[in-house]
Amino acid sequence: MKEQYDVIVIGAGPAGYVAAIRCAQLGFKTACIDRWINKNKKPAPGGTCLNAGCIPSKALLESSSIYEHARLHVKSHGVQANDVQLDLKTMMSRKDKIVSELTMGISGLFKANKIDWLQGSGKLLSNKQVEFTEHGKKKPKITSAENIILATGSSSVEFSAAPLENNTIVDSSGALEFTSVPERLGIIGAGVIGLELGSVWRCLGSEVILLEAQDCFLNMADEQISKGALREFTRQGLDIRLGARVLSSDVSTKGKTSKVIVNYQQDNQSSSITVDKLIVAIGRKPNTENLFTKEIDLNLDNMGAVHVDDQCRTTIPGVYAIGDMVRGPMLAHKGSEEGIMVAELIAGQHAEVNYDTIPSVIYTHPEVAWAGKTEQALKTSGIEYRSGTFPFLASGRAKASGETTGMVKVLADATTDRVLGVHMIGQNCSELIGQAVIAMELGASSEDIALTMFAHPTLSEAFHEAALAVDKRAIHLPPPRKR
Ligand code: FAD
Ligand code: AMP
Repeated sequence: MKEQYDVIVIGAGPAGYVAAIRCAQLGFKTACIDRWINKNKKPAPGGTCLNAGCIPSKALLESSSIYEHARLHVKSHGVQANDVQLDLKTMMSRKDKIVSELTMGISGLFKANKIDWLQGSGKLLSNKQVEFTEHGKKKPKITSAENIILATGSSSVEFSAAPLENNTIVDSSGALEFTSVPERLGIIGAGVIGLELGSVWRCLGSEVILLEAQDCFLNMADEQISKGALREFTRQGLDIRLGARVLSSDVSTKGKTSKVIVNYQQDNQSSSITVDKLIVAIGRKPNTENLFTKEIDLNLDNMGAVHVDDQCRTTIPGVYAIGDMVRGPMLAHKGSEEGIMVAELIAGQHAEVNYDTIPSVIYTHPEVAWAGKTEQALKTSGIEYRSGTFPFLASGRAKASGETTGMVKVLADATTDRVLGVHMIGQNCSELIGQAVIAMELGASSEDIALTMFAHPTLSEAFHEAALAVDKRAIHLPPPRKR
C-alpha cells in the first residue's frame, strides 16, 4: 500500500528538520527523508550544518583558540602554563562527540514529534508523489503527500584546477578531519569557510596561505569592518593573497609524503606555492541533481537553485523549497526560518521571513558579524544616513578580558533615525549581533537604543555607545573633531 502523508520533507538539515518539527507541531502527519551517512557509516540527521559544517567547525574554532590562548595569552593574566601541548586526537574526538550528541538529539526530536524519519534518498515525482529508496535497498517505494518541502541543501563546489585528492586536496569536510597539523596549508577562497578553517589550523600551528581571486576582501561585509578584519587576520599571521586566481595544481608524492604545488596568477604574474595540504573553499552549490524526474516543471537558475517566490513556493502548487537550495545566503538560520514559515503557510497561517535582517557571522577570533545594509550599499542607493562607531579599546569589559580588537558600527537613516545596518568586529560579536537584529526587527531608531539601559561592564555597552555616537554623544569617547 502507498504510504500517504500530509507533508513529506526531503532533507533533514537545519531547513528540513525544523520544517518537519513545525509541521508535526501543527498536527500534520509528517515524514522526513534524508540520505546522510556519517563517517561511522550510520544515517544521521542534521545535514551539513550538524555533521560537517556549523557545529564541527565551531567546536574546532573554540578548541584551537583555547590552545592558542593558553600558549600565548594567559601569561599576561598572571597564569603560568609552561608546557602547553596539543592533543589533536582528543580535540577531534571532542568535536565528533558534540556532533554525535546533537544528531542523536534530532533523531530523538523526530521520535518525540512522531515524525517518520526515512533513511535514504528521495526524488520528486509528478502528482505530489515522492520516490523513496531506503539505504541498502534497490527497489524504491512510492509515497505521497498533500504538501512536499524540498530541503536538500548544498555541496562544496568542485574546482577542475584542484580536483580533490585523498587526504591532500580536500574540501571543507576533509579539512575538519586532518589527523595531523599541516606544516604549510593552502586554501583556495578567502570567504567565510576558508577564513574559519584557516583560523583553526593557524591557531594549531600551520602556516596558512589563502589565495582569493577577488581583489576585494569580504566584499559582502561593510568596508570599514572588512578592512579591519584583513588587518587583524594578517597581523595574526594568515597570509591572505588577494587577486590571486588559481590556475592549476599538482600533487607530488615521495614515499609517504605528498606536497601540492598550486599555480596561480596575481597582478598578471604567474606564481606558485608548495603546501602540505590544500583546502578548496570556493563556495557551495545547491543539491538539485537527480532530485526530480524530467517531467517535473521546476525552474532552476544557472547555479542549480530552485526558483521560489518570497514565501518559498515553487512553480508547482503544494511543492515548496527552502534553505541552501534556494536563493539567499547559505546560512543555517535562514533555512530554519524558511522551514517554519512554510509549515505555517501549509497550516493556512500568515507567515513570512524578513530577509532584510538575516545576521551574518564569521566565527574567527575576533568574530565578524553584521545585519542590514552596509555603508557602501547605502551610498550606492543614495540613502542619506548617519553613522556611529565605538571601539572595543574603550570598553571596560573588553579591557578586562584582554581582547580589545574591533568596534561596533551603527548606521541609521538620516531622516527617520531608523537603524538600517549594524556591523561589528570583536570578541563575542556572534552574540552581540542578536541585539541589533531584535532592534531592527522592531523598527528601532538609534535613539531607541541610546535610551536603553545596558549592564556594566559588558560588551553590549559598545552597541549602546555606537548608537549614542550616531548623535555624536558617545560618553566614553572624546568629542568628534570639528572640521
Ligand atoms: P543541508 O544542511 O545541506 O542539509 C540537506 C540534507 O539533505 C543533507 O542531509 C543531505 O544529505 C540531504 N539530501 C540531499 N539530497 C537528498 C535527497 N535526494 N534525498 C534525501 N536526502 C537528501 N551556516 C551558518 O549559519 N553558520 C555557520 O557557522 C556555518 N558554518 C559552516 C561551516 C562549514 C564548514 C560549512 C560547509 C557550512 C557552514 N554553514 C554555516 C552553512 C550551513 O551548514 C548551511 O547553510 C546549512 O546546513 C543549510 O541547511 P539545509 O537544511 O538547507 O541543507
Ligand atoms: P564563499 O562564497 O564565502 O564560500 O567564498 C568563496 C570564495 O572563493 C569567494 O571569495 C570567491 O571569490 C573565491 N574563489 C572562487 N573561485 C576562486 C579561484 N579560482 N581562486 C581563488 N579564489 C576563488
